[in-house]
Amino acid sequence: MQLCSRCGGDRVVYHRVYSNERLCRACFIETFERRVVRTIGRYNMLRRDDRIAVAVSGGKDSLALLHVLWKIEKRFPEARLFAVTVDEGIEDYREEAVRYAVEYANKLGVDVYVVSFRQLYGFDLQEVMETSEYRGLGLQACSVCGVLRRKAINYAAKQLGATVIATAHTLDDIVQTYFMNILRGDLKRVEIGLRREEDGAIPRVTPFRLTPEREVVFYAYLMKIPFQASVCPNASQAMRDPIRKFLMEYDEKYPGSLYAALKSFEKILPAQDKEFTQRRCRVCGEPSSKEICRGCELLTFIQRGAVCGGMS
Ligand SMILES: [Zn+2]
Ligand SMILES: [Zn+2]
Repeated sequence: MQLCSRCGGDRVVYHRVYSNERLCRACFIETFERRVVRTIGRYNMLRRDDRIAVAVSGGKDSLALLHVLWKIEKRFPEARLFAVTVDEGIEDYREEAVRYAVEYANKLGVDVYVVSFRQLYGFDLQEVMETSEYRGLGLQACSVCGVLRRKAINYAAKQLGATVIATAHTLDDIVQTYFMNILRGDLKRVEIGLRREEDGAIPRVTPFRLTPEREVVFYAYLMKIPFQASVCPNASQAMRDPIRKFLMEYDEKYPGSLYAALKSFEKILPAQDKEFTQRRCRVCGEPSSKEICRGCELLTFIQRGAVCGGMS
């Protein structure tokens, strides 16, 4: 019989392949949460008196993040935690996700702030996708949605006086993004999800940076966190999917590869950090590599069309 590698208990529920640990329920939860604490400490992601806005979509990753941060932050009474949820206006999909987010935040006693595309930009994602301007752009729904959602989260976080935004990107997500940037010939000169203090921008952090996706899923399952399981009807992850698949298979065959990849990227990136921070979007003031940031560019384009009333 397999025994728990840490406590010797006989109820093993998880095999952590890269370290060859077999873990019982209690030891899995403990090591999972401790790794998040370690990640936050190692990268200086959070401060004792932060006002933390957690971006919560209603999916398992973000609800698991809310749960674990809620648990950790209980030990830091000067810190405040908020959940921020964006309603993009995706029919038959978003209402359910928003409900999961709001209900779970309420259950934890965390204040939740819902901001919608309609309220913020004057249009729903669905509406935009049906216009000819949008079709003319030849963009995928996910890229438009992602850019505008990011903007909406920044807006909500500012309203809340947040000092930091926490997102649920996992080790897998982050390594995938680095690879995608490389394959696009665009290895951003900034690290993804590490705290960067810049004027006019709220820093973003990713406490799951060192946590594999499958452990987040398992944690959500153990914690009995109810989440939206259906996939967004617009989802087409054309660029990300083959990379995700490749990395998953590779890491399965050679456990620990995702960590090794992350380590390599961390070695390459920080040295090139500097000049990037200087520029600001002329419209919204957020840091941007171009004169007008992608979000404002898209908004101008869309709002020039007949769809909407403009951003107030
Ligand atoms: Zn154990
Ligand atoms: Zn802008």
